Amino acid sequence: MNHVDEIKKVSVVIPVYNEQESLPVLIERTCNACAQLNKPHEIILVDDGSSDNSAAIMTEAAQRPGSPVIAVLLNRNYGQHSAIMAGFNQVSGDLVITLDADLQNPPEEIPRLVEVAEQGYDVVGTVRANRQDSWFRKTASKMINMMIQRATGKSMGDYGCMLRAYRRHIIEAMLHCHERSTFIPILANTFARRTVEIEVRHAEREFGDSKYSFLKLINLMYDLVTCLTTTPLRLLSLVGSVIALGGFALAVLLIALRLIFGPMWAAEGVFTLFAVLFMFIGAQFIGMGLLGEYIGRIYNDVRARPRYFVQKIIGSALDEKKSTATTQQEEE
Ligand code: UDP
Ligand code: MG
Repeated sequence: MNHVDEIKKVSVVIPVYNEQESLPVLIERTCNACAQLNKPHEIILVDDGSSDNSAAIMTEAAQRPGSPVIAVLLNRNYGQHSAIMAGFNQVSGDLVITLDADLQNPPEEIPRLVEVAEQGYDVVGTVRANRQDSWFRKTASKMINMMIQRATGKSMGDYGCMLRAYRRHIIEAMLHCHERSTFIPILANTFARRTVEIEVRHAEREFGDSKYSFLKLINLMYDLVTCLTTTPLRLLSLVGSVIALGGFALAVLLIALRLIFGPMWAAEGVFTLFAVLFMFIGAQFIGMGLLGEYIGRIYNDVRARPRYFVQKIIGSALDEKKSTATTQQEEE
C-alpha cells in the first residue's frame, strides 16, 4: 500500500443502556487507553434512553474541564445499532472505534486497533480470542459468515463482537443509508475496500445482565438477515416450484397407477384429491414467492442504500477532496 491516509483524530463511540455500574470504570479505562494514543481523541457516549443513572454520570463526565467525553442523550430506547448511528452523526475523527459499555470489550485494545488501521485498512474487525462456544453455535456462525461473504464479498469471523474500527469514509457512507433496522458491522463491510480482523480478549460481563432480552435478540437476528439480503423472502418461489413439481409428478404417478390397478387401488379418489391438493399448495407458494420478489424489491428501494460508493477519486480536479468520500446515487 503506497498511499495511506494518516489518522489525525480518533473517535470512540459507545452505546449505553442502563450501565450505571460499569460507566465510571468504563470512562476511566477508555480515557486512559486513549491517552496512550498521543493523538487528539474524543469519547462519544450515547445514552440509549437509560432509566437509571447512566445519563447523569455521562453528563457529569462530559462537563469535567478538559474531558474528552461527549455525551449524546437519546430521548428513548432505540436499540444498540441506532444508538451507535446517533453517535456516528457526531464524530469528528478520521478513525471511529465502537465498543460495548459493559466492559466485555477491553478499552485497552484501542491503541492496537488504531495501529492496525494505520496500515491502511478501512475496517478493522475483531475476533473474540477466548470465545468458547458449542459446536452448534460455531456452525451457525460459520453459515452466517458464508452468507455475509456472499453478500458483501468480505469474510468475517465474528460478527457479534462490536469492538471495531472504521475509517471516516465508511462512517459517512453508512450515514447515507437511511434504513431503520441495520446491522453496523455488515453495513460497514459493504462499503469497505480493505478489511482485516485481529484477535482481542473478551471478558465476562461484570455488572448487571445482558441488555438483550430474548425478543430483542430475535429482532437482532432478523436485522442481521434482512440487512444482508432479501434471499429468504425470494426462496419462497423456489420452494413453491419444487412443491408444485413434486405435486405434479405425484399426480401423474397416481393417474398411472389408477389406470393400471383400477379405482379400488386409488381409494375411490382420495389419492387423486391429495395430488390435486399438492399442486394447489405449490401454486400458492409460487404466488407467495412472487409477492416476496416484489416486497424484496420494494424493501431494497425503500431503504435507499446508495447503489455504489466511490471511496476516493485520484488524479482529477476532485483530488483535493480526497479525504472526503463521495456517495452517489445512480441517475434514472
Ligand atoms: N445497548 C444499547 N441499547 C439497547 C441494548 C443494548 O445501547 O437497547 C448497549 C449496551 O449498553 C451495551 C451494548 O449495547 O453497551 C451491548 O449490549 P449487551 O452487553 O447487553 O449485549 P450482549 O453483550 O449481551 O450481546
Ligand atoms: Mg455485552
